[in-house]
Amino acid sequence: MTSVALLEERVIRYLREIHEPVPQFSLAKELKLNSRLISRILARLEKKGVIKRERAIINGRRTFLVYPLETFLLRDLPTAPCFYCPYLEYCGRGHEYDPTKCDKLAKWLSGED
Ligand code: SF4
Repeated sequence: MTSVALLEERVIRYLREIHEPVPQFSLAKELKLNSRLISRILARLEKKGVIKRERAIINGRRTFLVYPLETFLLRDLPTAPCFYCPYLEYCGRGHEYDPTKCDKLAKWLSGED
């Protein structure tokens, strides 16, 4: 899995855990990512329809509020390569088939597939 795909996964996981809109600068701080990188990652996720961003002014600071879009899972999950993968039952972190190193999954997450 590419480093960008891993960062996208971290952002999605974080947003789903907290379940509320987050200012973009807070997201960068929580995930220890610089503002340029988080902006790039969020733009990619927004393009894929995984998140939505709305312009906001918080404490006099211009930013975006970031919303996770749950519909992503319902709409796109059935197309994930894992559903059709012959190695699914052997796949796991640190195993021979590892989702953090899987090219098929990385392509799907990046929207290339
Ligand atoms: S992460 Fe890759 S190897 Fe693992 S089940 Fe999904 S497609 Fe298969």
